[in-house]
Amino acid sequence: MNIWPLRFRELSNGSTLFADDAGGFFRSGQGFLSRYATDDLTAADVAFLREGNHGFDCEFDLSWTSFAYRWARRQSKPQNLSYAILVPTLRCNLTCGYCQVSRAPENSRGFDWSEETLAGVLAFLSGLDGPDVKIEFQGGEPLLRIDLLEAVRDYCRGRFSNTQFVVCTNLQALDARAWAFLDAEDTFISTSFDGDRTTHERQRTHSADATDAFFQNLEAAVSRYPAGKISALPTVDVAKPPDFHALLDNFERYGIRSVYLRPINYQGFARKLDQGDNVLVRWNRLHSEFIELLIARNYQTGQFMEEYYFVQCLKRVLRLDADNHVDIRNPNFFAADYVVIDHDGKFYPTDEARMLSRIGRVDLSIGDVAAGIDRAKVALLNSGASNHFDPDCIHCVYQPFCGTDVIDDISRYGRIDVARRDTWFCGRQLSIFDKVFEILYRQDKPTRASVAAWLGVNSWSADMAPVHS
Ligand code: SF4
Repeated sequence: MNIWPLRFRELSNGSTLFADDAGGFFRSGQGFLSRYATDDLTAADVAFLREGNHGFDCEFDLSWTSFAYRWARRQSKPQNLSYAILVPTLRCNLTCGYCQVSRAPENSRGFDWSEETLAGVLAFLSGLDGPDVKIEFQGGEPLLRIDLLEAVRDYCRGRFSNTQFVVCTNLQALDARAWAFLDAEDTFISTSFDGDRTTHERQRTHSADATDAFFQNLEAAVSRYPAGKISALPTVDVAKPPDFHALLDNFERYGIRSVYLRPINYQGFARKLDQGDNVLVRWNRLHSEFIELLIARNYQTGQFMEEYYFVQCLKRVLRLDADNHVDIRNPNFFAADYVVIDHDGKFYPTDEARMLSRIGRVDLSIGDVAAGIDRAKVALLNSGASNHFDPDCIHCVYQPFCGTDVIDDISRYGRIDVARRDTWFCGRQLSIFDKVFEILYRQDKPTRASVAAWLGVNSWSADMAPVHS
């Protein structure tokens, strides 16, 4: 039998994790590793590898073909461009300490779409293939220009069969017109909520009155709309994290069971914030503690909550098609299925690229609504969009499940060819996947219950994760 190349990594319990290019994995020990490395496999080793589809007898036999199929299913395929993040204004009525995009004061001028820009945006949308479109309104605070939101939504509803709109709002000031806009069934709310009142006020609202306004509007929205209409994201300062127990209690209280724990972004002006030393190590520790808290709490309450990004990574290990999240997929081609249009009509490949350009580090714009998307610039960025040929990733056991983050690399290092193992992105991914495999092999009931709930299956048993003794 021919054996597909296996990559390996020692886990924290001393065992060794192996995986092939198609993401087939198993746990074994140093004995198997040395037999594999010295081409001295026993009959039991070969039988195990055959059973697990880690080899084939001849090209195009069933094992070979199924391996090729599994490998191909793990690749993210280019889709039609059908998702636009629109920034009709940079102005905002809050001054959050770590604002990522250098918002403009509420009463300033020159930070909203002009009439020409609006016309250019609508012309761009008219050229999309359809029949579906998803529009995310970002800012600044987009509800400050509700007239522009209405113009885009009215146009899209006439142009596309299926529409979805997400308003990313700080929920500070909602008048009757804003509520009427949000009432529509095809319109959703995404807000920021930093976990508890004290943290939210310290990081965002800066006054008791503004904090009261936020909570009043959040509670009004929760009682007005069905579950699933509102999502909320906490941004976590690793130097002053919120009380995670309070965070989960609060999110559950507002009917939000999926929490996307985000570190302070390094792409915008927030990079200047001093979060102390060893931020990555401390972040990874915090995140791991959060997962443990979730597992214990889920088992205790029977009400299952999740950390969104962790569950995406978990699904990427066990499923072949978990590539619908733009932060983790491979390859992750730019301006393929979504694009960002800023307040001045410029295109950006991602919101992070917009933030990074805004602080003047580098211009990552890829054209504008007048001239169209600059495909040559997109192609340049796409040279780093896959981890298949990265000299570190090709040796990494997590490569089939992992991705890349070119914009974060540019932001932190000014280049995209830094040794992968030295990057922030890789440091986070290694820690997350270590945790994923740790919990997949755990036998305790609380962990198994959460893993099953997160995967959407009836039950999970550690026997389902292969071991070769
Ligand atoms: S980025 Fe790091 S964790 Fe991800 S595949 Fe590459 S080396 Fe592995």
